[in-house]
Amino acid sequence: MIKLNPISFENTEYAFAYKKNGELKRAHFLFTSMGKPWLINLGLKLTPLAIKWNFPFTKMVIRNTIFSQFVGGETLQETAAVANKLNNYNVKVILDYGVEGGADGENGFDESTKEFIKVIDYAATQHNIPFMSVKVTGLSRFGLLEKIDTLMNAGTGTLMKRYLQAIGQLNTTESEEWHRVRSRMLKICEVAASKKVAVLIDAEETWIQDPVDALTILMMDCFNKNTTVIYNTLQLYRHDRLQFLKDCYAAAVERNFILGIKLVRGAYMENERNRAIKMNYPSPIQVSKAATDKDFDEAVAFCITHINSIALIVATHNEQSNLLATALMIKNEFPLYHERIHFSQLYGMSDNITFNLAKAGCSVSKYLPFGPIKDVIPYLMRRAQENSSVAGQTGRELGLIEKETKRRRVNG
Ligand SMILES: Cc1cc2nc3c(=O)[nH]c(=O)nc-3n(C[C@H](O)[C@H](O)[C@H](O)COP(=O)(O)OP(=O)(O)OC[C@H]3O[C@@H](n4cnc5c(N)ncnc54)[C@H](O)[C@@H]3O)c2cc1C
Repeated sequence: MIKLNPISFENTEYAFAYKKNGELKRAHFLFTSMGKPWLINLGLKLTPLAIKWNFPFTKMVIRNTIFSQFVGGETLQETAAVANKLNNYNVKVILDYGVEGGADGENGFDESTKEFIKVIDYAATQHNIPFMSVKVTGLSRFGLLEKIDTLMNAGTGTLMKRYLQAIGQLNTTESEEWHRVRSRMLKICEVAASKKVAVLIDAEETWIQDPVDALTILMMDCFNKNTTVIYNTLQLYRHDRLQFLKDCYAAAVERNFILGIKLVRGAYMENERNRAIKMNYPSPIQVSKAATDKDFDEAVAFCITHINSIALIVATHNEQSNLLATALMIKNEFPLYHERIHFSQLYGMSDNITFNLAKAGCSVSKYLPFGPIKDVIPYLMRRAQENSSVAGQTGRELGLIEKETKRRRVNG
């Protein structure tokens, strides 16, 4: 007999139970504002400048609006209030130290490494923080990653073969620099393994991604033998990633490690397309949203089918993809709480998915960034852009908030 999927994302009482009326009102105001393209465009241009010039009240306005919606706090300690609140509803946390563009120079990268380790130490003391995330651009000079990526693209053979060829072509200074990047990553992974906190490596721009993938796979080969310490991120808006997933799986089976995979659609689509046009190379991005959706869902199905060698994080706000994953779990007669299948949404978005999955018993988390306001600006800009279409995510968020506000009014 086919079992029906008991999960629905319509229950707004569960979705917003953690928000007081005032907080719900503030979220409504914010999503309404983000639905105005002229305001978003102005904000995207002026905010970085206002921060740079220390314009009065800028930080206060950001802190009380978009920052409090999408970010856990300015310090690690400040995230505790949000994490504890989520814990009350069986929602876990992926803690993200938002250093994007914040770290620079060797000292900066060493400092970031210390910060990442502080996050791991802290997460290990908490009930509901099993994961933390790392951006390799917080550990390495962007130009060095770009150079290795270019060399790898000119090479032939498997990812690892091209990686080794590329590393062999670096000059002595670059080679030493890359050695320091590897040591930073190794240190983070060693501490994470000893503290039983998993490390999720974020995916960034395609023109630096090959060395990130190679480094991550090397770490998995080392640390993912019995449990999953390291996860790589695959962006399915890239048309080559489904095949890459299959190649990684083959490597994991051959080398006998657990392939940790976080599936996302991808956050840098416009930059990717613009660069491809500007530099006259074929775009790495799928031809349409439908093609991205198709590959994302195929990747989910592939991971669930091969769950013996894979640990999966379904990281999406797409209701259909989340429903597909739960339907496949039910079809395979897996429990909804599965130690190898986890769901995640960004803090401040799609509470209807997160809290209804938690209510149904799934393992689910919020991706919770923290950091000084000036350092999380690039992250906030991406959230503003992503939520700027009333027809898309914003419309959905607003509809749900309005439904819950009405429900609370009727029920007193
Ligand atoms: C927990 C978590 C971690 C994340 N980590 C990362 C990360 O490490 N790296 C990263 O890049 N992103 C990351 N993201 C963001 C993610 O990539 C998406 O930007 C975001 O989640 C929106 O996609 P969706 O699947 O939620 O929703 P949907 O609304 O279904 O999809 C929107 C996405 O579809 C794609 N898309 C839209 N239009 C088109 C088109 N015309 N052609 C092709 N594709 C199109 C784009 O990727 C767009 O963001 C993360 C998201 C979550 C929830």
